[in-house]
Amino acid sequence: MPVSRARASAVVRGACPHDCPDTCAWQVTVEDGVAVRLAGDPDHPFTRGTLCAKVNHFLDRVYSPDRILHPLRRAGSKGEGKFERVTWDEALDGVADALRRIIETDGATAILPYSYYGTQGLIQATGMDRRFFARLGASRLERNVCTAAARAGIAVTMGNRPGMLPEDIVHSRFIILWGTNTIVTNLHLWPFIREAREAGATLVVIDPVKTRTATAANWHLRPMPGTDAALALGMMHVIVAEHLYDADYVARHTVGFDRLRARLAEYPSERVAQITGLDAAEIIRLARAYATTRPAVIRPLVGMEHRTHGAMAFRTIACLPALVGAWRDRGGGLLHMTHRLHFQALNAAAVEMPELQQPGVRAINMVQLGRVLTDPDLRPPIRALIVYNSNPAAIAPNQNLVLQGLRRDDLFTVVLEQFLTDTARHADYVLPVTTQVEHWDLNWSWGHTYLTLNRPAIAPCGEALPNSEIFRRLAQRMGFHDPCYRETDEEMIRKALDSRHPYLHGITFERIMQDGWASLSLPEDYRPFADGGFATPSGKVEFYAESVAAQGLDPLPAYVPARESPAGDPVLAARYPLALIAAKSGLHFLNSTYVNLPRHRRAEGEPLLDLHPEDAASRGIRDGARVRVFNDRGSVEVRARIGDRVRSGVVAMPSGWWASLSPGGSSANALTSDGISDLGGGGDFHDTLVEVEQQHWTAARGSP
Ligand code: SF4
Repeated sequence: MPVSRARASAVVRGACPHDCPDTCAWQVTVEDGVAVRLAGDPDHPFTRGTLCAKVNHFLDRVYSPDRILHPLRRAGSKGEGKFERVTWDEALDGVADALRRIIETDGATAILPYSYYGTQGLIQATGMDRRFFARLGASRLERNVCTAAARAGIAVTMGNRPGMLPEDIVHSRFIILWGTNTIVTNLHLWPFIREAREAGATLVVIDPVKTRTATAANWHLRPMPGTDAALALGMMHVIVAEHLYDADYVARHTVGFDRLRARLAEYPSERVAQITGLDAAEIIRLARAYATTRPAVIRPLVGMEHRTHGAMAFRTIACLPALVGAWRDRGGGLLHMTHRLHFQALNAAAVEMPELQQPGVRAINMVQLGRVLTDPDLRPPIRALIVYNSNPAAIAPNQNLVLQGLRRDDLFTVVLEQFLTDTARHADYVLPVTTQVEHWDLNWSWGHTYLTLNRPAIAPCGEALPNSEIFRRLAQRMGFHDPCYRETDEEMIRKALDSRHPYLHGITFERIMQDGWASLSLPEDYRPFADGGFATPSGKVEFYAESVAAQGLDPLPAYVPARESPAGDPVLAARYPLALIAAKSGLHFLNSTYVNLPRHRRAEGEPLLDLHPEDAASRGIRDGARVRVFNDRGSVEVRARIGDRVRSGVVAMPSGWWASLSPGGSSANALTSDGISDLGGGGDFHDTLVEVEQQHWTAARGSP
């Protein structure tokens, strides 16, 4: 008779690592060294025991048969996906030798790190890697694909200090979700919005697409993409003309009101209606409701940022709360991102060690990876690319140019990955990395104010190593023997928490080891701008900004047509008349993460192009037909879904799909623009024009 044995069981606290504002706290149940259950922490005030459709099945990811569990060396052509297994010593020696050769011939700036927040924690995203590349003297990467333009625009108007806490939206009575699909991309804010609505709040969604969130709102406005600044100016025109503004707040806490008033004369409702495609009466109604309902909050997130004039859009919208005095109220103002509170509090510099950075090293904007890899005049050219926490073959704009660069035979590419992504398929070495349940991290959040400790719940799978350990070992091979290259992850976490900032008061390593997470020590009633005190040069909201004038830019809020728009480039718009929105609309994907997992991909089905009935009819496209979406940068083959999800003149498709897993072998980023925004160095990939035609399939490719 077999002897039964008690199973060793434990619950380990951690944090979701994804680039999502919610940064959920989770609990992992481990039995005999195997993670058997992963669930949201029921005690965490923001997570409230719930994860999302993506992460509920995180353990599928951890134990996927497709995980890369050993170092790999390329054994075929780039992109072919043929690799041979090698030892860690062979892989790290191979990488270090190649880097040394490149430094000798072209200098260290011929090496480019490429990373973002595929893993968003402080240690695995901005720790030993940053120290390594700084000491190496590699080109610096401007990680501007997200947030940069919005941050720059908001900073011009009101400085960069967050003005409202997410939970305080329960006090709001007029809520504008501006270009954000909260139910899909910011799920854990939704219960707070629901609570506000139960108390009588009106929910307005401004979005060209009829998203899940828009469908759930009281009121959905659908301006043409890229016209948000015009709408905000139109609202301000009405508010000022009808004397609905807070004259006292404006007088005491803003500068440039008279100049703003003169500028607003250019934006009467009729003109704004023409620009935005909205009814003038609707614009007036929105302005009146916003100005006369208290507290009123505007929640913009990522959607309207990635545009030619994304910074100006945010700068303009950020004027509205000051104009109506919304900052006075708890639950009023502009609710953008919270990560600056975390970074003010933490001693992040002790982790990153920016002092190691060599002066004068060139910076390369990650938005333009394709251009950089294929630029014949770049000196020195990029000869080595080291990718981690990112899959640029899927998420970077101008995908065909990125792939052309990755296929260069003279480019040495190393990819730290969990799966053989489209980027990893082009690598010379693929180095297996741990998932979040296998390593330490300290997780900040851009959507709330809780700091979360992520503890490893299980031993690393196969031979996988944390990013931090891979850069630690590479540093030793490159001869970096200073003690900072031997610090453990736990030591780095302790350093990050070693801060006298009042927001970190009472938060120690021991405390978050015990509790798993801790709220930053912020005032219960957080209204930092109730009586002014903005972090601008004048200390006030700057309707007119001298700092922008000094850069030769328009110092006042304005609407400027996008480069790719009928007003910005009529010739281009005649060839490609439809505005493309490549949105994070998938419930089961997060950017390009999870696209390869069967359960997640089955749940998503196939990528669809949303097309308005008028645009479909004029092109002879029927619902469900295969169509080709194209412009000068590329083409994508998808099935058309005809309906009112988009307004006429706009098409939408999901972003994030891997080209190799897409029906026609390319995905949305084959179409997107890789220009740079007006301020902050952000991308403009949401300002993309396309045309659509019915696809005529040959027998070899399948039936229409
Ligand atoms: S992806 Fe976002 S919503 Fe989903 S579990 Fe992670 S933090 Fe929470």
